[in-house]
Formats: sequence, structure tokens, C-alpha cells
Amino acid sequence: MILKSTKPRIAVGGIEHETAGFLEGNTTLSEFKERRVSSEDFLGLSGEENTVIDGFVCGVKELNFTFAPLVWYRGGRGGYIAGPKASQETFQVLLSDLIENLSYQMPIDAVLLSLHGSFAVEEIDDADGKVIEAVRDFVGQEIPIIVVHDLHCNITSKSVNSSDIIIISKTYPHVDMHECGKNAVYLLKSIFEGILKPTMAFKQIPILWNAKKMITSEKPMSEAISKLSYFNSKPGVVSSSIGVGYQWIDSPAVGASTIIVTNDNLDRARKYADELSGWIWERRADWVNPSLKPLKALKLGEKIGEYPIILADQADNSGGGAPGDSTELLRLFLKLKLEKAAILYLVDPEAAKNAHEIGVGGILKMKIGGYSHNLCGPPVKVSAKIMALTNGEFYYDGPYLKGVREFVGPTAWIKQNEVSIILTTHKQQPIDQALCRILGLDCKEMKYLGIKSTGHFRSGFESIAGSIFNVECNGLFSQDFSKLPYKNLGRPVYPLDKNIKFLSSDFTD
Ligand SMILES: [Zn+2]
Repeated sequence: MILKSTKPRIAVGGIEHETAGFLEGNTTLSEFKERRVSSEDFLGLSGEENTVIDGFVCGVKELNFTFAPLVWYRGGRGGYIAGPKASQETFQVLLSDLIENLSYQMPIDAVLLSLHGSFAVEEIDDADGKVIEAVRDFVGQEIPIIVVHDLHCNITSKSVNSSDIIIISKTYPHVDMHECGKNAVYLLKSIFEGILKPTMAFKQIPILWNAKKMITSEKPMSEAISKLSYFNSKPGVVSSSIGVGYQWIDSPAVGASTIIVTNDNLDRARKYADELSGWIWERRADWVNPSLKPLKALKLGEKIGEYPIILADQADNSGGGAPGDSTELLRLFLKLKLEKAAILYLVDPEAAKNAHEIGVGGILKMKIGGYSHNLCGPPVKVSAKIMALTNGEFYYDGPYLKGVREFVGPTAWIKQNEVSIILTTHKQQPIDQALCRILGLDCKEMKYLGIKSTGHFRSGFESIAGSIFNVECNGLFSQDFSKLPYKNLGRPVYPLDKNIKFLSSDFTD
């Protein structure tokens, strides 16, 4: 595809939702609308934030292409949209919005989409694939479509068959989202110049990947990322990616995958996708090691003797959609009478509201947390001093989302004995220390931090940590996949099943 125009029109849009299917169907259309960035609002984007869309915007500006903004439903997460009928109707509203905006921008020369890769709607397992397919149907076969996915994506053939290139974020925490978006625009440039004719292959791998084993700064994930560099250096390879999957949904789409994009050589793309998948499969035991119980992790941390000891409560990771009100770590910290300890953040709108009504210096007497599910309880009775309050609006200041506005609703820092608790109204994982800083809680001074996050907190807390342990508490986002109530998962899958044949008999147990 060689363009005559030097100012190709690039359509840019996205519908981002990480669907946590084991939660009650609780996502609503109004939540999508709250996060809607209209085509007019796109003009206000700086192009500098660490989002895929900002990366698209930055690349389009740098290459002096013409920007054709669509609509962007940014960074959503939570359960299915409530009710099968409402779920599909809401999905149609979002999709129609995207396609309608596309119709206003025609004619265009390419489409760039930011899609999480684990968006599902009841009775539509692969909603991202549906979006890409609808865009393809609308623009036709000749217009290049490049999609950028989150690392936690469940890739299906529908997405691959309907797009020209899929790029997956390579970092966890996802500090490279801007870079991925910008790369996509530069690949378009090569397509327009006629020097790139993308050919893409993917391979699903029957593995349920443990979240702790996705952290890219640590082995074994750092070795997987080096492997991507190895494939990228092969002649004719344009892009190589690993999707580690999103496992907290009961869907046949769940699982890891590899994607290789080559220049006009589909056979080579297939060969390398097989090779990379085989490399991952051979090491399957490395990706699924069980996590520690919190008490054992604390003992190990004390043995190391460097502080703060951070316990990542991955089973209640609010960033992945978990309720954020599990009390297991709080109960443990109180039972052990820990000093200089803090829980970040416990989601409890009623407690946060009460704390605001009582005011700083007062005492909050009530039961907190543990209300969403019996796996998250029981609630904890406190008589806690109210240390500080905020309305919950702040801007991230760590490397992952620096400059991005966040709103977690009325928030309170309370202290029960020597354990601090940050109570928020809305759920969000602690990504950096910005919210604590506003409240006056100095995380560096803490000896023990219980953080409701799996990996993203590392971007803002690793620099101050003495030691970090991902721990297995009770919760809806357990890493013990045998506990999750799957019915529709593709089987066999490792580690739930044994003696799986994959790629070649050399790789079977
Ligand atoms: Zn992710």
C-alpha cells in the first residue's frame, strides 16, 4: 500500500475494558460513559501520558500525519455488564459509537485501536475481536488496522484475522504502553512507504500463568522478554509479542499466546510463533509456581531484615477488578500487633463517608471491609483515629502513570493501634505513593505495607521496598486456579491438567 498523499489520515480510537468474569455482573453503561473521551476531547491530549492512545497521538504528530480521532473508552475494569441482554445492548452502544465516529472521519488511510484484549460481554467471549471485526467490515480489506493490547490479553483468531498487526505490551507494570502506541504509527509509515507488508501468525498456549511470574523485572519473565528481543533481531521479523492471558474469567478464550509479525512471509511468522510457544511450554512449570501465605512471607522478610516489607495481596487486586475490601492482611497485621504498618487501600465507601462526617482527630467506631463476598471477610471492628482526609482526587507521580488524574472518591487515613488503613470509596490499586503523600502518610517510614495489587504497585514502590512478596490470601483473584469455578475454560490446560500434548510429543509430560 503506497500512499500518494504525504499526510495520511489516521483514525485513532479505543474501547478498553478488563472484564473480571467471576465478579457479580456490575459494570454499567454509565461507568463506560464516565471514562469516555470524545473526538473533540482528543484534541486536549498531550500525547505524553503513558497510555497507548497518547503513544498513537505522539506518533501521528511526530510523523506529521493527519489525526482523525474517533472515541476512547479509557481504562475500564470490573465485572460483566449486568444481565445478558443489557450486556449485549451496552456493547452495541459502545461499538456503534466507535463505528459512527469512524463514518464521520472517512475517508481514512489506517486505523489504530487500543483494546485491552480481555474485554468480554455475556455470550460474547471475545468482545475485542468483535470490535476489530466490525471495524474491518466497515473500512474494507485494504485499510491497515493495527491493534495494541495489554499484556493480560486473551488472543483469539477473530482478532488476528481481522487486523494487520497486533502489538502486546511487554512490561508488567505496563510502563511501555506509550512506546507500543508510538511504534504502531511508525509501522504504518513503513506500510505507507511500501517497504512493509505485514504477515502475522499467532499461537495459543494452554497455560494459566501466575501473576507473580509475569513481573518483567524478575526472572523468569525477564528471560521471556529477552527471548522477544532475540526473535525481533531475526531477519524479516517486524514485531514479536507474548500475551500472558487474563485468567479471572470463565471463557474458552482464556490462555497465553504468542504473536509474530513478519514482512511478507507468513510461513516464517508461523515458524517463529511455534518456536516461541515451544520455548514457553518447555518452561511451563516456571510460570505457575504457587505463592506464599502471608505469615510465611512476613517471616522471610524479617529474616532478610530490610524494610519496608511489602506484601502484595494479589487475590484482592483492585486494579484487576477485585472488590478491594478483603480483610485478611489487616486482621493479620492487627493480630501480630505490628507497628509502622499500613494497608493500601481498603475499599469501604460507608467507612470513608463516616470518617469524613466525623472529621480529622475523631474516632471511627464501626466494622470495616469484608462486605463484598464471604471470601473477603469477616469485617474488622475498629475504634480508629482519623488521621487525615481527602476528596480522593490526585495525579499519579510515579513512572507508570505520571501526570494521569485519578479519582477514588472520599478517602480517609485511619489508624487502629499502630496499623494505618487508607479507606477509599472507589476501588483502585495503589500504583504509586501519590495518594498517601497527599494524606501525609510517608510509606518510606513504614516497616510493613499490605498493598492490594499484583504487579503495578512495583512501579511506585519498588524503589523504597526492603523486600516484596506476592502473597496468597483469600479473595476473588486467587492465583490458585484450581479454586476458580471454571466451567467453560478450554481444556486441557496446564497446570489443571496433566499429560497435555502441545506442538510436538517432545513437549508432553
Ligand atoms: Zn494488564
